[in-house]
Amino acid sequence: MDKTSEISNFGRNVRFTPGKICVPRSETELLTILRDHRHGHVRVIASRHAWSSLIETDDALIDMRHFCQIRIHEINGQSCVTVGAGCPLKMLLKFLNERGLTTPSVGLITEQTVAGATATGTHGSGKHSLSHYVVSLRIACFDESGEEPRIVSVTEGFELRAARCSLGCLGVVVDVTLPCIPQYYVREKMTPKGTIEKVLALEANSPLQQFFLVPHSWTYFAQERSVAPENHRSGFAAVYRVYWFLSLDVGLHLLIVCFAAWLRSRPLIRLLFRRIVPCTIFPRWVVVDRSDRQLVMKHELFRHLEQELFVRRSDVIAASHFVADILRLADDPKHELQPDTVGRLKTIGSLKAVESLRGTFTPHYPICFRRILPDDTLISMASGSDEDWYSISFLTYVEPRDDFFRLATFLADSMSRLFEARVHWGKWFPLEADHIDRQYPAMETFREVCRRFDPRGVFRNRFVREKLRL
Ligand SMILES: Cc1cc2nc3c(=O)[nH]c(=O)nc-3n(C[C@H](O)[C@H](O)[C@H](O)COP(=O)(O)OP(=O)(O)OC[C@H]3O[C@@H](n4cnc5c(N)ncnc54)[C@H](O)[C@@H]3O)c2cc1C
Repeated sequence: MDKTSEISNFGRNVRFTPGKICVPRSETELLTILRDHRHGHVRVIASRHAWSSLIETDDALIDMRHFCQIRIHEINGQSCVTVGAGCPLKMLLKFLNERGLTTPSVGLITEQTVAGATATGTHGSGKHSLSHYVVSLRIACFDESGEEPRIVSVTEGFELRAARCSLGCLGVVVDVTLPCIPQYYVREKMTPKGTIEKVLALEANSPLQQFFLVPHSWTYFAQERSVAPENHRSGFAAVYRVYWFLSLDVGLHLLIVCFAAWLRSRPLIRLLFRRIVPCTIFPRWVVVDRSDRQLVMKHELFRHLEQELFVRRSDVIAASHFVADILRLADDPKHELQPDTVGRLKTIGSLKAVESLRGTFTPHYPICFRRILPDDTLISMASGSDEDWYSISFLTYVEPRDDFFRLATFLADSMSRLFEARVHWGKWFPLEADHIDRQYPAMETFREVCRRFDPRGVFRNRFVREKLRL
C-alpha cells in the first residue's frame, strides 16, 4: 500500500512529506521495495516517538507495523524472544508477562516498537539500555554491489555492536532477538533529599532508582527502587497505581500545562513546585508491584519535547550543580552564578553566551536523572566507558519552543565540552558532527559497518549525513 501525506512525530517538532509510504506485509515485499529504491533513499518509521529528525526522508518511508510476530525459544539454555521489528513494547511485555517473563530492561513508556527503541539506545534506570541486550537481529540491507537487497542475520562482532543501536543506518531491521528474564517485582518508595550526594547514597539499597531535581525548590527527590525479594503485589499497590495516575500522570501534568503553557505564569509554576508538589509525595508509602507496572508511567499523555544529556558517574555531581545554576539563571534575571560555574564557563569561553539566557525560560518540569550501565555497542550513549552513565532530561510543555531550544542548545554545547556529555539520539538533538566525533571513539568503525551494509547510502538521510558524517 503506497500513499503520501504529511508525517509528524510525537513532539510535532519533526514534519515532512515522504515521496512514498510503503507498508510491507512480508519479507518478499520488503525486498521488492528495497530493490525498487536501490538508487534512491529509504528510512523506516516506527511509533514516531523520537524527537530527533531520524525518520525524515523525501523518498521512501517504510512502516514495519505488520512485522509483529513473537516467538520464545532457547539459546544455550537461556530463554530468548524473537520479535518482529514493528511490535510495540507494550504488546511484547504483555505476551511475556502471560508466560511469567519480561524484558531485561524497560524505559519510562512502552509505546515504542522493539526496533525503534533499540535503534536509539532507549533505557530505563539502573540497568543497561535495551540495545545492549540484543542477541541478534535480521536486517534487510544490500549486497557489496549495492544492487541486490538481501536479509542478513547479525549475530556477533562489530556488526552486532553496530546493529544493536544503529539509528536505522544499516538497513531495515526485520526482527530482533532479546533474552527474556523471569518476571520480577519492584519495591518503590519516594524519598525527598536536600542534595544530590544524599540521593546518590541511596543507590546502594535502591539500584533501580531514578531521581529528580525539583525546579524552584532546587532540592531532590528519589524514586527509590529495588527488586523485591518476592513476587507479591503489596496490599495498597492498586491504590498506589490510581494515586500515581490521577495525581502525577494526569494531575501534575495538567497543572504544569495550565500554569506554564496556557497561563504562562512564573509565580504559579514556582508555587506548584515549592508548595503543591511536596504535598503529593508520601515518603512512608512503600509499594511492591510488578516490574512492568512499577517502572513505567503514562508520560505520553501530554505532548512535550525533551532533550536528554548523558554524563559519566565521575561527572554527575559537578554536572548537576552546573545544570541547577544555569536553570536558575534562565529563570531569574538577577541570579548570581556560583564561582565554580563561572570558572567552568570561562574555560570554554561561554561567559558571554550564558548572559543571553538570563530570565528567558522558566523551568517547569523536574529534571530527571537515571543511571545507565555501560555497554559495548559502538555508538549508544552509554558506550565506550567502564563507568556508569547518568542521563539528565530537560522537558518543555510550552510552545513556541524557541526559548527552550536556546537554553537546551547552550546546555548541550557547554556540557559536551565540560563533561563530554552526549545527547540521546532519540531526543531533541542540537549537537553537530564535531562534538559527536569527539564523543564517540568508535564512530569510524560504525561508519565502516554502515558502508558494508549499505554501499550506496540508501538508508542515509540529512540527519545521519550531517551529524554522523555518513
Ligand atoms: C513520551 C516519551 C517517553 C520516552 N521515554 C523514554 C525513556 O524512558 N527512555 C529512553 O531512552 N527514551 C525514551 N523516549 C525516546 C524513545 O524511546 C526513542 O526515541 C525511540 O527511538 C522511539 O521509538 P519508536 O518506536 O517511536 O521509533 P521512531 O521514533 O519511529 O524511530 C526511531 C528510530 O528508529 C529507527 N527504526 C525504527 N524501526 C526500524 C526498523 N525496523 N529498522 C531500522 N530502523 C528502524 C527509525 O528509522 C529511527 O531512526 C521517549 C519518547 C517519548 C515520546
